[in-house]
Amino acid sequence: MEASSGHQLMAETLGKFVSLVSKRLPDDVMAKLTELKGIETEPLAKSLYACMFENMEKAESLNRPTCQDTGVIQFFVRAGAKFPYLGELRGILKEATILSTKQAPLRLNAVEPFDEKNTGTNVGTKVPWIEWDIVSDDDSVEIEVYMAGGGCSLPGRSIVLPPLAGYEGAVKFVFDTIVEWGINACPPLTVGVGIGTCSTSAAKLSKMAMLRKLGSSNPHPRAAEMERRIQEGLDAIGLGPQGISGHRSVLGVHVEGMAHHPSVLGVGVTVGCWANRHGIIQFNKNLQYTMISHQGVEL
Ligand code: SF4
Repeated sequence: MEASSGHQLMAETLGKFVSLVSKRLPDDVMAKLTELKGIETEPLAKSLYACMFENMEKAESLNRPTCQDTGVIQFFVRAGAKFPYLGELRGILKEATILSTKQAPLRLNAVEPFDEKNTGTNVGTKVPWIEWDIVSDDDSVEIEVYMAGGGCSLPGRSIVLPPLAGYEGAVKFVFDTIVEWGINACPPLTVGVGIGTCSTSAAKLSKMAMLRKLGSSNPHPRAAEMERRIQEGLDAIGLGPQGISGHRSVLGVHVEGMAHHPSVLGVGVTVGCWANRHGIIQFNKNLQYTMISHQGVEL
């Protein structure tokens, strides 16, 4: 069956948006990097930040991705049940990935499991990875794209703690993870922490926490306090830009939680690197789009 013109239009628009995200960091990440750049005082840390900003200028002027590792493409979809292209969305997301891979161009990062062969398209078994959230009584869709690089995916892990470990155990797990692995993820880091009931739910919540807008806090005062304390502790370690030491380690620490089984506490950690390439775009039912994460640019 031939794709409708709406299907094609959405795939092309989304493909352009994925390419944009690969080349331009979202506004909140840019603002936080600018802030942290101004805080560092040591020559090496200052020169690393200068290098990052020159890299971003070059990405824009030369129309190339911000990092050679364009990651594995992941989509987080919050779709209205009445969005007219809901049934076609999976195919649209795949086509957008292939289009962006050719147009941007993106490095080829999808390796088939067990055969260990690169597909050459950035599309493969369950890739692009898609997480769905269906909203009733809505005819629009919000799509968040994230480019999961190798280095920033490396520290990701989750664990299920026994009852007595408590929140102290959760915080220890976060610090052990970042101290051991954070340097591989090109700091300054965005650290997402998920408090769940099993390893899967904790891991998913940690990814959603990592993607949350920088500068936002969890609305629960205790969770917000946990975010603040973990951030202070991680900054005190002083990873600095690219781990060469400095006054700051993180762009932000975000915690998300869910009701959990009383006898266990699932804890997940997901880390984003300084080049935290993600972006949000909304489409209405007529496929008119609004970019939420990137202002002042056009597709
Ligand atoms: S961690 Fe991020 S900045 Fe570093 S190589 Fe990977 S994608 Fe690029």
